[in-house]
Amino acid sequence: MAIRKLSESVINKIAAGEVIERPASVVKELLENSIDAGATQIEVTIEQGGIEMIRITDNGGGIAKEDMPLAVTSHATSKITDADDLFRVGTFGFRGEALASITTISQAMIRSRTADSDCGYELLINGGQAEPIEPCGCPVGTTIEVRQLFYNTPVRQKFLKTPQTEKSHIAEAFARVALANPQVQMTLMNNQSVVHQLAATESWRERISAFYGPEIADNLIPVSSTEREISLNGFVVDPSISRSNKRMQYLFLNRRYIRDHALQHALTEAYRGLLMVGRYPLCFLRLDMPPNMVDVNVHPAKLEVRFQNGGQIYKQLLATIREQFLSTDLTAKGHLSR
Ligand code: ADP
Ligand code: MG
Repeated sequence: MAIRKLSESVINKIAAGEVIERPASVVKELLENSIDAGATQIEVTIEQGGIEMIRITDNGGGIAKEDMPLAVTSHATSKITDADDLFRVGTFGFRGEALASITTISQAMIRSRTADSDCGYELLINGGQAEPIEPCGCPVGTTIEVRQLFYNTPVRQKFLKTPQTEKSHIAEAFARVALANPQVQMTLMNNQSVVHQLAATESWRERISAFYGPEIADNLIPVSSTEREISLNGFVVDPSISRSNKRMQYLFLNRRYIRDHALQHALTEAYRGLLMVGRYPLCFLRLDMPPNMVDVNVHPAKLEVRFQNGGQIYKQLLATIREQFLSTDLTAKGHLSR
């Protein structure tokens, strides 16, 4: 068969498949955009686990009318300009792909207003086909509504699970952003009922408590250390509270939720002898380091990263938690045999 260049629309659908796996991926990308836009209030509303509808409203900086068409074009971003920027990104986004992907595989509405504009503007875009932008009344900030996700990619649509399952994935995506950004007031609504309503706070402990309640909040053990520009802060959870899986091991790198096998291993090591076989510790840890010490551009969802000093971070995490355990009287709670 002759070689042909793929059409833009096919290319976009392929790219969309990499970034948008399920409704929760939409929620993750839109939440990160709202945070990047400096929002202090974000409301997420979903219907049928996001399969029917996802709407996110923020009070961030908004998108100017002339930028709207670019915002939904792939590889268009306001966040980086050259390749060097890739190694110092401080924003969540930088690929300029999320909105292009989402609007290619759904029926979307973007409504936004910047502070220096008297009115807002609305862009309707259906399977990548944009309608003319119309003025509308709205407060400063952005609302993005996504309906019928995957309606034009039947294979993806078949892989959608029940609304209940999709909702729990969305709740997890929401949790990851909410835990990393306590300074932002955040609400999650599903089919008209409130799932989470979180007040803005300076305190990480308070946000964790609001999310998980007293069982966990009362058992947080603070940890903190800084070694050669790498700072580790947050909480491990008393070994009397454990889980049968690693889902509540929250690790944030420069406020971005990440998964890292080596660091999970360090955590397990730190709890050695304190937990029964098959039980896993909980943690809420924040690693902060200069952006040039880590490559976040290795995974489309940016869930995995590559550290320059992985070994040092492993040792630091292990040592910091161990030292904290040694100075905390765990024996009082009967975890240690002596
Ligand atoms: P990226 O986040 O990688 O830049 P996106 O496709 O997610 O790419 O977004 C494209 C652009 O649209 C962003 O760079 C930003 O300028 C703009 N944008 C998207 N969402 C918002 C929002 N909620 N508020 C303000 N601007 C936004
Ligand atoms: Mg983005």
